[in-house]
Amino acid sequence: MKARVRYAPSPTGLQHIGSVRTALFNYLYARSVGGTFILRLEDTDRTRSDDIYVKNLYDTFRWLGFYWDEGPDTGGASGPYIQSERFALYREHAEKLVDMGKAYYCFCADDKSAKKEEPADEDETAPPAGFGYPRTCRNIDAAEAKRRASAGEPHVIRLKIPLDGVTGFDDLLLGHIEWKNADVNPDPVLLKSDGFPTYHLANVVDDHLMGITHVMRAQEWIPSAPLHIIMYDAFGWEPPKLCHLPMVLGQDGHKLSKRHGATAVDEFRKKGYLEAALINYVAMLGCSYEDGRDIFSLDDLSRLFTIEHINKAPAVFDYVKLEWFNGQYIRMLPDAELVSRIAPFMADAALVASPPTAAQSALLLAAAPLVKERLKYLSDAPEALRFLFAEPAVPPVAELLPKKLDAAGAARALEAALELLATIDPSDHDASEAAFRARAEELGIKLGDLLMPLRVAVTGTKVSPPLFQSIAVLGKATALARGQKAVAVLRAAADGSA
Ligand code: GLU
Repeated sequence: MKARVRYAPSPTGLQHIGSVRTALFNYLYARSVGGTFILRLEDTDRTRSDDIYVKNLYDTFRWLGFYWDEGPDTGGASGPYIQSERFALYREHAEKLVDMGKAYYCFCADDKSAKKEEPADEDETAPPAGFGYPRTCRNIDAAEAKRRASAGEPHVIRLKIPLDGVTGFDDLLLGHIEWKNADVNPDPVLLKSDGFPTYHLANVVDDHLMGITHVMRAQEWIPSAPLHIIMYDAFGWEPPKLCHLPMVLGQDGHKLSKRHGATAVDEFRKKGYLEAALINYVAMLGCSYEDGRDIFSLDDLSRLFTIEHINKAPAVFDYVKLEWFNGQYIRMLPDAELVSRIAPFMADAALVASPPTAAQSALLLAAAPLVKERLKYLSDAPEALRFLFAEPAVPPVAELLPKKLDAAGAARALEAALELLATIDPSDHDASEAAFRARAEELGIKLGDLLMPLRVAVTGTKVSPPLFQSIAVLGKATALARGQKAVAVLRAAADGSA
């Protein structure tokens, strides 16, 4: 049977590292076995679902560049793929379970005490927790209950959890897990009094009707599994194979959350992570591919992914490692591609137009090699390249002074540097450096002290891209003019203190 897997987010929050990892593993599994990857929106919790989260979902995956074969936007034979468009189906199936004696009408729903004890009714997307419904209505005669429900008495429909015995399943990753039925949340609500399904009902009905063969989801859903298995049994359906993915933790061993840093994919995008780097790193959170290799494209991952290679142990999210991946992927970009990636960040910093003019594009292309080896994120580009697109303020004296030189000494060094600069070809780094080194020796100062005022004068910062190449891209005339302004500042300071 062809594998069918799904990513089934509830649009109640932004797409984050954990959710993307779940989606990615499902996608990779589908690709690795030639199966189908489905997106299903689980928006049964109308109070917490929001269109901004649906938009964020689409934006995120469009940016990441891996997509579903069937879903609300792509269509498919198992639609609709949005649960709020399938409500009639859930009612029909809940009623079917009642008719089969596997579920029952409960009229306590509006009774506050019963409601408080039923967590699934309060927060249906949360895994069940706590116990309490005393199964009061389970004993009402079925015909009598049907009559009351048909007469319009407010009710919910509850699943009959068997009173004894065990329920279990073989998790593809964790092995056999089972519960005593006596320990399972007694008789969870399937259909709420407003006719809305709970997560459990909609999830099981849809996984069955959509022909889902494998469910890969986060481990926090394990407590829901017995309810689901019991429901599959009640319907007489074969459950899909379940695989609960290892948790993603922060360095401190707690579940990854905002306390650890960015978790929303949008934040990584805005910071200037490349989607390929994020995908590569997220794919490695709890799964191994080929020993001794770190860099995998989406195509590589699609070929190499296997459920057997998912780890049981939780994965630890390492921001530094992700940063390393990002640097690697930035280095791999061809110059023109790097330009198109940094252009929006340059435009946001008001350094170029959006889109850049032809002249700005040409300058960006010339500048790309200056920063390619140094950027951690695309968002580092504006600061690194500002000096090419905006005239830096003339630096104050303090900024221009190497540690060992006073204003007069720095002025002399800078004048010497400018004199030499006028005679060399800065695009030849090695020759330029050799010439400056010789000059520094003649002056009896360090090479760094000769270059430092020049760097600050030309780029406005002490940490610029490689200086000679920067000057070559900027143009020698502009560099010399900036240098002269700084000389004037140093001279004025030297004269003032003399
Ligand atoms: N809607 C659930 C969620 O938001 C789906 C859980 C599952 O995959 O069964 O995670």
